[in-house]
Amino acid sequence: MTTIPDIRTASGFDVHRFCKGDKIILCGVTIPFHQSLSGHSDADVAFHALTDAIFGALGDGDIGTHFPPTDPQWHNKDSSHFLLFALNRIKERKGMLRHVDITIICEEPKIKDWRKSMIDNLSRHLSLPPDRIGLKATTSEGLGFTGRKEGIAALAQATLLLE
Ligand code: MG
Repeated sequence: MTTIPDIRTASGFDVHRFCKGDKIILCGVTIPFHQSLSGHSDADVAFHALTDAIFGALGDGDIGTHFPPTDPQWHNKDSSHFLLFALNRIKERKGMLRHVDITIICEEPKIKDWRKSMIDNLSRHLSLPPDRIGLKATTSEGLGFTGRKEGIAALAQATLLLE
C-alpha cells in the first residue's frame, strides 16, 4: 500500500498599526524608524503571520488561542517566543517545517536594506536554509491603510511535513 505523505500548507495574515516610537521589529530584526508598531507584544507583524501559518498547517488554532492578548504575561513579549512555541508543536507531532514564504506590505520602511538580516534570523529560528525561506516586500501603490502609512501588513505561508 502506498503511503501518501502528509504535506500541509497554510497561510497567516496580520496587521499592526503605527504608533509613536523609534523602532520596528520585523522577523525579529530591530529596524530604526520614526515610528513603532502598536501591539500587546513586540508587534512583530511578520513573525505573527508566520506563527499563524504554522498553527493553520497543524490545525491547531491561532496565535490568539495560544497567547490571548488579554493575558498580561504576553505584554511586550518577544514574538520569537510565539514562533518557537509553534515550531515546538510541529516537533511534538513528529513533523518538519519544509518551507516558509513571507510578504511584508508597507510603503516604509524599505525592507531591502534589512532583508539579509531577516533571512539570517529566520534561518536560525526555523532551522531552515535560506533557499527554503521566501521573503518579499511590496507596497500597496499608495492605496488603503498601508498606502496611507497607517501600519504594516504581513502575509505568510508555511509548508510542513507530518509523519
Ligand atoms: Mg499580531
